[in-house]
Amino acid sequence: MTIDYERLFIGGEWVPPSSAARITLTSASTEETIGSVPEAAEADVDAAVAAARRAFDDPAGWRTWDAARRASAMRSLAVQLEARADEMARRVSSQNGMPIQISTGLEGGFPVSILRHYADFIETQPVEEERAHLQGGTTLVRREPIGVVGAIAPWNYPQTLAAFKFAPALAAGCTLVLKPSPETLLDAFLFAEAVAASDLPPGVVNIVPGGREIGAYLVAHPDVDKIAFTGSTAAGRSIAEVCGRLLRPVTLELGGKSAAIILDDADLDLSRIGQDLFAATLINNGQTCYLGTRILAPRSRYDEVVDTFAGFMSSLTIGDALDPATLIGPMASRVHRERVEGYIAKGKGEGARLVTGGGRPKGQDRGWFVEPTLFADVGNRSTIAQEEIFGPVLSVIPYTDIDDAVRLANDSDYGLGGSVWTTDPERGREVARRVQTGTIGINRYLPDPGSPFGGVKDSGLGRELGPEGLAAHQQLKSIYC
Ligand code: NAD
Repeated sequence: MTIDYERLFIGGEWVPPSSAARITLTSASTEETIGSVPEAAEADVDAAVAAARRAFDDPAGWRTWDAARRASAMRSLAVQLEARADEMARRVSSQNGMPIQISTGLEGGFPVSILRHYADFIETQPVEEERAHLQGGTTLVRREPIGVVGAIAPWNYPQTLAAFKFAPALAAGCTLVLKPSPETLLDAFLFAEAVAASDLPPGVVNIVPGGREIGAYLVAHPDVDKIAFTGSTAAGRSIAEVCGRLLRPVTLELGGKSAAIILDDADLDLSRIGQDLFAATLINNGQTCYLGTRILAPRSRYDEVVDTFAGFMSSLTIGDALDPATLIGPMASRVHRERVEGYIAKGKGEGARLVTGGGRPKGQDRGWFVEPTLFADVGNRSTIAQEEIFGPVLSVIPYTDIDDAVRLANDSDYGLGGSVWTTDPERGREVARRVQTGTIGINRYLPDPGSPFGGVKDSGLGRELGPEGLAAHQQLKSIYC
């Protein structure tokens, strides 16, 4: 059975697409066709932006609603998404290979939590604030919604990363045109169904399925006021160039190559840390931007670290993403598996020691699987230590002392995530403070709706989530009274 859609969700209605072009969705686990949707053309983007513009400019519309009313509509969307959470998780997992036990909590559950978080938050936040003026009187400082947001999401966490954008945008009073990734669209259409069933006014959320050309068209569209993008650093750079020319505000959540720093006092007992270590280094088959894929190991415990990771990685259950026992599913596409395998070949070619994995798992004769792969004795300047692989491939790199570990962690063009593993939490914080990164965990890695998420260096610009993610969808006005 396949899931097929014939119409696009624009202006609060299901409308016929302007062209006959369609995008086919494929199961990463079985390589079978699982659905198809219309592909948006430029005319559809024009219609979506116009609908978002109308909804934003409406003098009695969304942006003028008080916080309680807006929060209530956001909560109604949360209820609609919650009712579809299991189906959402299934659709995401089928398309991109994310193990269902991960997508149930994340793709099914996290957007609901983020929406509720922002709904609660805006009810506590004044939109206007009075400040004393130096010359007497006051200044009224207002936080106004930035306008029509073009939100562009990748395929690896399509719903969660869309929620990083739509939840604060809605909370601020913005309207949106969301462009999901062509690999993950069945979930985007389910999201559209949730929006249609919610109390959000027509045109507040519009969806344009398409690839990079449609994304680029949206980025440069004259009626868009802000771009919120998650994806590769290469695409982010080109979007930033366009936004720079247009002086259009942009937030960019890009790639990463983070360090998991194992201190010499770390607890390496997998029965205690296995789950957290998995979440920080391998979750979603390694297709996660913030993972600590460079394992920095103290020379004093180097062999133990290599053995621990080797045992851990070879013990992970590999299988169909929809099987509840699966911990490692397939790569999201054939092309992406080729890319990951290219990096494994490069690692071998550059002299790293292959400890485990390196091939395709036995018994998986269909689906784009790659074995969890561990390299040891990796040089930090080598290709596999510097470039984002985005697959289940980890590199162990030895260090001599903490200064050396911090130097290696920071010797990267990226700065998105990372983790420190130690039995001394204060020592963990000391090291975490020295790492050039936007986010880092101690003995775990777990983003939270209440705190800012994003990267430094080539990992991006600006922050999503937290009050900062809301502020990124607002502009300030000072009224001198
Ligand atoms: P990608 O950059 O190829 O595509 C991401 C999205 O942008 C897709 O919807 C795509 O159609 C669109 N797009 C591509 N080029 C565009 C352009 N020039 N203008 C407008 N839109 C464009 O990335 P991907 O392969 O889908 O996702 C994987 C990448 O995303 C990895 O590099 C990963 O690290 C990054 N990522 C970052 C974060 C983060 O929060 N920092 C989170 C998840 C993924």
